[in-house]
Amino acid sequence: MPSPTIVWFRRDLRLADNPALSAALELEGPLILLYILEEAADGERAMGGAQAWWLDKSLQALAKSIASRGGTLTLRRGPPESILPQVTRETGARTVVWNRRYGATEREADANLKARLKDDGIAVETFNGNLLTEPWTVKTGSGRYYKVFTPYWKTVRANFTAPAPRPAPERLNTVEPSGDDLGAWGLHPIDPDWSIGFEPVWTPGEDGALDRLEAFLSSGLSAYAEHRNRPDIDTGTSRLSPHLAHGEIAPATIWRTVRQAMQDGRRNIDEESAWVFLSEVVWREFSYVLLFHNPDLATQNYNPGFDAMPWRDSDDDYERWCHGQTGYPIVDAGMRQLWQTGWMHNRVRMIVASFLTKHLLLPWQKGEAWFWDTLVDADPASNAASWQWTAGSGADAAPYFRVFNPITQGEKFDETGDYVRTYCPELKNLPRKVLYAPWTADKATLAAAGVELGKTYPFPIVEHKHGRERALAAYDDVKARKTT
Ligand code: FAD
Repeated sequence: MPSPTIVWFRRDLRLADNPALSAALELEGPLILLYILEEAADGERAMGGAQAWWLDKSLQALAKSIASRGGTLTLRRGPPESILPQVTRETGARTVVWNRRYGATEREADANLKARLKDDGIAVETFNGNLLTEPWTVKTGSGRYYKVFTPYWKTVRANFTAPAPRPAPERLNTVEPSGDDLGAWGLHPIDPDWSIGFEPVWTPGEDGALDRLEAFLSSGLSAYAEHRNRPDIDTGTSRLSPHLAHGEIAPATIWRTVRQAMQDGRRNIDEESAWVFLSEVVWREFSYVLLFHNPDLATQNYNPGFDAMPWRDSDDDYERWCHGQTGYPIVDAGMRQLWQTGWMHNRVRMIVASFLTKHLLLPWQKGEAWFWDTLVDADPASNAASWQWTAGSGADAAPYFRVFNPITQGEKFDETGDYVRTYCPELKNLPRKVLYAPWTADKATLAAAGVELGKTYPFPIVEHKHGRERALAAYDDVKARKTT
């Protein structure tokens, strides 16, 4: 009997375009399809609550999909350095395969594990399953990593070709060592179950991801360039991020499908929109380049000049920001969308992040940590890189002095007012001209809309002009200190 091969699933919870799984299927012998729930190691942070919710559903979907092909997904909990050798001993497996990860602690743990398994005579093969191009492969003319997005994007666009599709196998022949029961892992929140708003919005799992891509190709992609900054348009962006974050769809699948749709002309895809969309997918890649070369990206300023930033410390302001009670409707709508659905539109992420780091002058790390816990798409690279980008401390970042105006941003991008009215229903009867600054409305308008400032909706936490000037003064102070 040929010995079994262990396929270790991590952030690649899918059967199609999964290079590790494909490689295992080419070997003789049955498979052990294994997911290990890892405790956070020292120096690592635990999975956020919203991610745990998603993981629970994604594992259910993966298990179902494997079962429909005649196999079983095995679940184990604990340190992989104990579990994997244990499973090889229990089953006689001689090979372990996985798709690579890119965080520093993860890479170190994987390298140690690989060495240990090899010492035990177990073959280990690893693959790129989660990126178009791995962080060390795309280099500038002088052999360095790219620190600026546009030239990086141009290089990827000119050189990347998606690999041939690897369809999901029709049948799976698996060996099933004893495993855990998913329900016993307690990933779904109870008491309170704050995830009620997630169910109607998301379908975690590979089928949900492929359906989402298909729907976006049919009714979102062609208007992407025009609508991607419009939080009031549901189909304005793909909402593929949580699927990508859990590896339910490979970026290569997205690239190949979009390029094919552009080339075959059947769907009348607008070329410009399609390239803008693919460039956004490549922002994710760029974030991984930054994380790979800057392992502390989620905690340390990429630009050390920001170490001297005189951040404020106000638990009260932070709490009000977290819970959508700042008195700025576009900020509050975003923070409430995040809490209710586990996701926030990109334009609004930039607005709320700018508001936290500039108007409130609170450290970007606090915002990053809140997003980490509440986003279903929380991603170690994109979250850290995007927070630093907005705060001004990141690579190729928005300049610190560009302070988003939370009033005009709302007026400009929530064009219909539907976004604020959905997430701040207490303001839904306000006319649009005061919707983003309710304190500017006269008494009669507020009364007619049933809004009582300070009671039904808060006064602004900070006056816009004051917040902006305080932020700019802090930045000037840092600049002055750097040059003296
Ligand atoms: P689409 O516009 O349809 O884009 C397609 C895909 O491209 C996305 O699914 C995503 O994988 C990628 N992408 C798009 N924009 C970006 C970007 N700016 N940076 C990196 N990748 C991008 N994205 C995450 O996936 N996880 C995070 O934890 C995360 N945290 C963020 C924090 C802040 C402060 C900001 C400003 C942005 C953050 N983003 C994060 C990036 C971006 O907001 C989301 O990827 C996007 O909103 C997801 O929605 P979508 O799938 O509809 O995107």
